[in-house]
Amino acid sequence: MQKHAKSRRLFFAIMPNTETRSTIQRTTRDAVKQAGGRPVPPRNLHITVAFLGNIDAGAAQAVMRNPALDVSGFFVEFGRYWHSKRNRMLWLEPLTVPQELQILEKQLWLGLSEHGFVREERPYRPHVTLARNANPIPTSEVTFRWKVRSLSLVESITHASGSRYEPLHTWQL
Ligand code: ATP
Ligand code: MG
Repeated sequence: MQKHAKSRRLFFAIMPNTETRSTIQRTTRDAVKQAGGRPVPPRNLHITVAFLGNIDAGAAQAVMRNPALDVSGFFVEFGRYWHSKRNRMLWLEPLTVPQELQILEKQLWLGLSEHGFVREERPYRPHVTLARNANPIPTSEVTFRWKVRSLSLVESITHASGSRYEPLHTWQL
């Protein structure tokens, strides 16, 4: 292993296309405004599928080569808001987790475990983070479907102004 391997903060995510990004913005605008705090910039909206953390460049290369995925495109039906008192996060959650997404997450970790990555034990809870340092909001509905056609490996780059996400690879489903 390289002595001073550069580390990269990586995660697998579903990134919205332009249309879905606009839909999320439009349908959640009032709730996000009401919650206050720091709204997630539109370009950062995503659903994390597998978080890898800070890994060295060599391990990142290995991960990029071949996630063995055998899932076709699917829809995610939204949704409901969820506010964490502890983390002061505002999430948007699907009404139910599509089976394809559960399978996708399992297949990813199966491949990742061959590279020595270990999945945290807590259940997978897909969501879109909408705001940080947010206040609770009354329950309200937000109804739209997100057509998922691809999965991306994304680098999280920390800037003084906040994190920026850079897709490194995208696989069509
Ligand atoms: P910041 O941490 O700078 O406030 P961020 O949380 O958006 O910004 P990252 O911490 O790099 O950026 O996280 C990237 C994505 O991975 C986010 O969706 C985040 O919720 C998720 N994530 C971060 N840590 C974990 C973890 N330990 N387990 C699962 N998902 C995680
Ligand atoms: Mg974080």
